[in-house]
Amino acid sequence: MSLSSESVEYSEAESAPSARRSLLNFEPNALESEVIAIGLPRFRACQLWRWIWRHGVTDFADMTDLGKSAQALLAERFHVDRPAVSRRQVSSDGTIKWLIRLGDGQEAETVYIPDNNRGTLCISSQIGCTLTCSFCHTGTQRLVRNLTVDEICGQILLAMDELGDWPATRLGRRLTNIVLMGMGEPLYNYESVASAMRIIMSNEGVGVSKRRITLSTSGVVPEIARCGDELGVNLAISLHAVNDDLRDKLVPINRKYNLKTLVDAVRAYPGLSNARRVTWEYVMIDGVNDSEADARALVHLIRGIPSKINLIPFNPWPGTAYECSDEQTIDKFARIVMKAGYASPVRKPRGRDILAACGQLKSDSVRLRASKLEAVQDAAASQS
Ligand code: SF4
Repeated sequence: MSLSSESVEYSEAESAPSARRSLLNFEPNALESEVIAIGLPRFRACQLWRWIWRHGVTDFADMTDLGKSAQALLAERFHVDRPAVSRRQVSSDGTIKWLIRLGDGQEAETVYIPDNNRGTLCISSQIGCTLTCSFCHTGTQRLVRNLTVDEICGQILLAMDELGDWPATRLGRRLTNIVLMGMGEPLYNYESVASAMRIIMSNEGVGVSKRRITLSTSGVVPEIARCGDELGVNLAISLHAVNDDLRDKLVPINRKYNLKTLVDAVRAYPGLSNARRVTWEYVMIDGVNDSEADARALVHLIRGIPSKINLIPFNPWPGTAYECSDEQTIDKFARIVMKAGYASPVRKPRGRDILAACGQLKSDSVRLRASKLEAVQDAAASQS
């Protein structure tokens, strides 16, 4: 760990499960139904919504226009808590990572990446992942469960709290973009992800525009069109290989939905234009997918689709067999792609001193807990 990064661990006591239900689960109509069901007038739902989603207030007693009896009634039945934080790390480059602990003790990760006048929050949609992409650390962790709407929204609220970035009180916007690129495959948890995004996009609340939300999928083809029609958010595809043989290995969902099916679905994504391009994520792995022939095949594969290609230097994690391509190779690859007319930024590795890549914060913590457990078991064995 670099000296310039901070890391704070928090105690288990902070994540005690609550019998009260989270109001972060409800879209406006559902919130109204909940309010009416406990005997409050309909207009209280609008007031509540503003307190929760514009002011970030977490205590009903601070929602001053609700009236004492409504405050008490709501506090008895509901809460607007954020997920507990088991660990928070701040990188020397300003990246912040939270390992959050949910009511059932499961953990997921959220990462905030500041960059000039942009602040991007990378959120998780599942705990673990079923998809076992061989270059991805999360893929080594089994799927535990989908995150619920409040757990997805809670990651955003947690960051807004820390950044002091609430619509009603902010001086300047620090959280400008949201990417669903954390743990999990968002299109395998579509209903909850869609509901959470509708809440976050609402202009009466947080008001993040759909143009500032990017959903990244490994290629769950049947849900791609639905995502475009219903949410209209930006689309990113974890591509990583340009022939089926290699993609079958790197991104095994390719065996179900091959490259042709995937590219056809992307071509049909509603609203694509030069102003609204699809992002192809391509992790640069030494000697695996980084040749000049691969670059040319990539250009050929996506021809005619308004596209941006994100080249991501592979960020090695403990136990992986892969290594990152060298700078010269990445540069050559990028030049071929750019010459073909595609923007091809090389994503700067961020937060390396705190293990920034997908799945690494959680795994680090799992390892930490496993080694603590081993130490306890060793001590117990030596006393018996
Ligand atoms: S890259 Fe995404 S879809 Fe693949 S294993 Fe990792 S989290 Fe899952």
